[in-house]
Amino acid sequence: MRNYIYMDNAATTPTKKEVLAEMLPYFSEKYGNPSSIYSLGGQSKNAVEKAREQVAIALGAKAKEIYFTSGGSEADNWAIKGIAFANRHKGNHIITSKIEHHAVLHTCEFLERQGFKITYLDVDEYGVVDIEQLKNSITDETILISIMFANNEIGTIQPIKEIGEIAEEKGIYFHTDAVQAIGNIKIDVNELNIDLLSLSAHKFHGPKGVGALYIRQGVKLDNLIEGGAQEKNRRAGTENVPGIVGLGKAIELAYENLDEHNEKLINLRERLIKGIFDNIDDVRLNGHPTNRLPGNTNFCFKYIEGESLLLSLDIEGVAGSSGSACTSGSLDPSHVLLAIGLPHEIAHGSLRLTLGDFNTEEEVDYVVEKLIPIVQRLRDMSPLYEKIKGEK
Ligand SMILES: *Cc1c(COP(=O)(O)O)cnc(C)c1O
Repeated sequence: MRNYIYMDNAATTPTKKEVLAEMLPYFSEKYGNPSSIYSLGGQSKNAVEKAREQVAIALGAKAKEIYFTSGGSEADNWAIKGIAFANRHKGNHIITSKIEHHAVLHTCEFLERQGFKITYLDVDEYGVVDIEQLKNSITDETILISIMFANNEIGTIQPIKEIGEIAEEKGIYFHTDAVQAIGNIKIDVNELNIDLLSLSAHKFHGPKGVGALYIRQGVKLDNLIEGGAQEKNRRAGTENVPGIVGLGKAIELAYENLDEHNEKLINLRERLIKGIFDNIDDVRLNGHPTNRLPGNTNFCFKYIEGESLLLSLDIEGVAGSSGSACTSGSLDPSHVLLAIGLPHEIAHGSLRLTLGDFNTEEEVDYVVEKLIPIVQRLRDMSPLYEKIKGEK
């Protein structure tokens, strides 16, 4: 098979083989239900508890504050709906931002239909939330602030410490969707005053369909999934034991190699950005120039569509993304690119290339080399570009 270059690590990552090796026995010989009292069950129970400990260590949390879920989307839904419904008597106002993942935005829209009031904070041209607006939005009714740690499209990292301090001072719960940050940024939930944090294994070389919600001890929230007594009566359903084992191993590996991972990814990212800027005109980098995820790049190539770029790159064996995986397939421009102030026609021309542990410098160079003629060819076909060229 032709060598495939995967640069869509913000959408998902390949599961590391060490992670898969830890998971495999829990599909076959170690198949017990963690709730069963015989030793086969106990073995699974121990494996789940070991993973809980691994996640807790990574976050500076206590093991009993970690609850496993089916992924990042469930964790976001649980945190926000759970806090909203359990604290309704205190107030009905929630603050979030315009650039959250749809798991947060659509949950907030659902709550609006249930009578809650939501403030969607603006962001600046780099995608950083407006802290003054946050302070001014807080009322006696505010029960939750939910701001993502780092953005999945443009990679911008938010001032989480500042937000945590504001929430703490006002006595408001603070949730952060850290799905993109975990494995890229060292996070201590106590230092940052985080009350709830969502994470997802498949974004840091673990398996898909498993994640966790950190819930600070004492935080009151309703259940999302009702049923059996799993997860201390807070999240029902027989545990995804192999997935949980994989999550634990993946988070441990991610933080063991954090410095090396970051150095490598930042080097690849800067090489890619430089390669593109040195060789292609009329391109812009979206997101913050420095305060961004180590592996994230997001570009707008003027006069062309992101979708056609993706298709041409795919023919060359390169996988990237236009906007986020959830929006490609629809023709709406990304809500994130619109929030940073890009006009519709430019927001359509975006290309996100996200690097991971398995990418190399040779791959980066190959992508730049292929992009140059692709962009030129698509621009030559673009009536808009013809017109601009004619005027120059
Ligand atoms: C991927 C992602 C999610 C959703 O996580 P799943 O495990 O795929 O449900 C939520 N938030 C952000 C920021 C993400 O990147």
